[in-house]
Amino acid sequence: MSAEETLKQIAGEVAVCTNCILHKTRKKSVPGEGPANSEIMFIGEGPGMNENEQGRPFVGAAGNFLNQLLAQAGLKRETVWIGNVVKCRPPENRDPLPDELTACNTYLEHQIEAIAPRIIVTLGRFSMGKFMPGAKISAIHGQMRKIGNRFVIAMYHPAAALHQPDLMKTIMADFSKLPQLLDVARKELAKSAPAAATVEEASAEPKQLSLF
Ligand code: URA
Ligand code: SF4
Repeated sequence: MSAEETLKQIAGEVAVCTNCILHKTRKKSVPGEGPANSEIMFIGEGPGMNENEQGRPFVGAAGNFLNQLLAQAGLKRETVWIGNVVKCRPPENRDPLPDELTACNTYLEHQIEAIAPRIIVTLGRFSMGKFMPGAKISAIHGQMRKIGNRFVIAMYHPAAALHQPDLMKTIMADFSKLPQLLDVARKELAKSAPAAATVEEASAEPKQLSLF
């Protein structure tokens, strides 16, 4: 199955999922969206009111701010994947509970596996907690670290930053570093992917020969 088909299948499963109590109050599930070959995945917390109505991630006030942050970093929203750790809205936007995070985790795992992004940007503490348990956002925000065969960068949640001027400055500075960090991630991952490098070298050779 292609990555795109896998993502569609996951969205279909999420739409009818009853694995945690959040299914009882959802209007629309929000599986996440973006190209199957996205180099960057942004992972937030969970759908809010607007997302629950529309079935799409980050479409409310936090979403508008995220769009601005992406534009400022020179990234088109359509070229990145955007989703959440839980796919159904927690009532009154309460925090997702541990058993809900656990119940929903498999979907996110499969999405990450299918997309195989170079960079995962966590937005908010629940997403950060999945990759860097116990980390403090104030200490590590904006720093890229390698986890397995990809890179993870923790950032503040755009909704939190919207209401706190200091955080807004910080998240804007962190986002503006993304293009540079993506370059670093591409180079580092190319080094650690010898199979891909060999193919490139092999195909570069005839071109060089044709110069003579
Ligand atoms: N906040 C999130 O964490 N996710 C959304 O999809 C919207 C707002
Ligand atoms: Fe299923 Fe996740 Fe929705 Fe819970 S939040 S019902 S686990 S899709």
